[in-house]
Amino acid sequence: MKYCSNCGKELDDNASFCSSCGAPCGEVKKPGTLKVIAEIFMVLGCIASGWALIPLCWTIPMTVKYFKSVKEGRDVSTGFKVCSLIFVNLIAGILMLVGDDMD
Ligand SMILES: [Zn+2]
Repeated sequence: MKYCSNCGKELDDNASFCSSCGAPCGEVKKPGTLKVIAEIFMVLGCIASGWALIPLCWTIPMTVKYFKSVKEGRDVSTGFKVCSLIFVNLIAGILMLVGDDMD
């Protein structure tokens, strides 16, 4: 004999809905451990890709801009260099800043 998880009424073993309150009372499968772990990793994956994708919104344009500037022989602003250093790549930013004096 099983009981309604909602109202506690005794239920027929084959019943899939409570005759009293109408709540579904079929076996509620507990998710397996692996599925829970997979869920955690899915969330972590979302966070990880979010972390990677959001910076890409500015790292790619900045990289493209820098490539253009280098190709056309133009200099990029100091602000751009500092932003590159902070947001894109530390070494690239340092090289940009140092590279000025070497031209
Ligand atoms: Zn019920």
